[in-house]
Amino acid sequence: MREKAYNSFQIAQAQFDKVAELLGLDAAARELLRNPIREYSFSIPVRMDDGSVKVFRGFRVQHNDARGPGKGGIRFHPQETIDTVRALSMWMTWKCAVVDIPLGGSKGGVICDPHNLSQREQEQICRGWVRQISREIGPITDVPAPDVMTSAQHMLWMLDEYEWIHHGRFPGFITGKPVGMGGSLGRTEATGYGVIFTVREALKELRIDPSATRASVQGFGNVAQYAIRLFQQIGGKVICVSCWDQSEQISYAFRKLTGIDMGELTSITDHFGGIDKTKAKQLGYEILPGDEWISQDVEILIPAAMENQITLETVAMIHPNVRLIAEGANGPTTPEADKVIHDRGIFMIPDFLANAGGVTCSYFEQVQSNMNYYWEKDEVLGKLDVQMTSAFLAVSELARKQKIYMRDAAYVIAIGRVAQACRDRGWI
Ligand code: NAD
Repeated sequence: MREKAYNSFQIAQAQFDKVAELLGLDAAARELLRNPIREYSFSIPVRMDDGSVKVFRGFRVQHNDARGPGKGGIRFHPQETIDTVRALSMWMTWKCAVVDIPLGGSKGGVICDPHNLSQREQEQICRGWVRQISREIGPITDVPAPDVMTSAQHMLWMLDEYEWIHHGRFPGFITGKPVGMGGSLGRTEATGYGVIFTVREALKELRIDPSATRASVQGFGNVAQYAIRLFQQIGGKVICVSCWDQSEQISYAFRKLTGIDMGELTSITDHFGGIDKTKAKQLGYEILPGDEWISQDVEILIPAAMENQITLETVAMIHPNVRLIAEGANGPTTPEADKVIHDRGIFMIPDFLANAGGVTCSYFEQVQSNMNYYWEKDEVLGKLDVQMTSAFLAVSELARKQKIYMRDAAYVIAIGRVAQACRDRGWI
């Protein structure tokens, strides 16, 4: 059965409405929280390399800043829409609230395809984006970050423009900066490690020894690679990973039942997280169709690649031995498949909790930049562990006490905190 194509903002609002009902929120709270508090849409004229002028459309949506300055990335994408940005800004509000960092939710975007733009043209888009919105964003109001198709270089151009406009040095204006230019040590590891901090706690709750577990992982990029490294350090075995083959435009799974070796696999992996099939075969890996990452006989599944991967079609392939799913990717499970997972009693660590290590470390970057004083890597990762562990424990305790699904418990905590902050401020 094919599943419907949804508008992301409608999905975000439907998820919110369900939890608003559980929380018994009044009409004013619902009206305030199911929509962004502010949104900006603007033109960015750019003189192109051929001398012509092209006008790009830019967005910044601030969903809610009751708990602190807005936080959220800027996406460069040819199919960007205001509704996608609205949905992502709402999810940022809940993600910051569930890990209890004092930030709100925002998101930005520009409709463009960096593949077809020179470096100079991309720089002009970044500077133009900041010029249009510089009065509405800043270190104490709304802090951007990199996202789809934007990088540390884009962030530095944006920072430079902001600093020309505001006459000073404001490294806390933006995160995702390179280490040495205000970036934080530990950011590269943060999301993957954060996933495993929550897996470790879930295994304690399920009374399963990590060294008795096997995992299968979808993806072999930034999140997956650091998740695998830490999972192996706590004693677990990863027997299967999958990734996208750029040349064939298809995904493959790589299996070694004795456990994958990160040293050998990363030595044959390209910059985009694609593994060389021929070399993997020589190293003794079985090469399987990409979808088979989900049907492996393991205790733990970690989708860490893309959205909409566990669907009504693929959820049936999950092996009966699977006890835990940790969503490293954003939105890997469709609502219909999620219901099946819930009914099967599989322990779910939902995306906006499991992968919140990234934004938590960005918050640490912001704090360090505002102080202009930088921490050692161990200090960053130690603080990350504390933050992720206490967030996980709060959600799992609520799920246990109220006998509700982990995803619902995470939403109840996040939305409850934001609604309370709005009440405390006298907004509602
Ligand atoms: P990445 O680009 O570094 O890696 C993506 C990996 O997924 C690659 O190995 C690619 O080959 C693989 N892949 C793509 N399509 C696939 C498919 N159909 N089947 C199997 N593998 C496929 O990306 P990343 O930074 O690791 O992000 C992964 C996910 O985690 C995304 O959903 C992202 O939004 C989310 N996320 C990332 C961060 C972060 O800090 N990087 C933070 C929060 C959430």
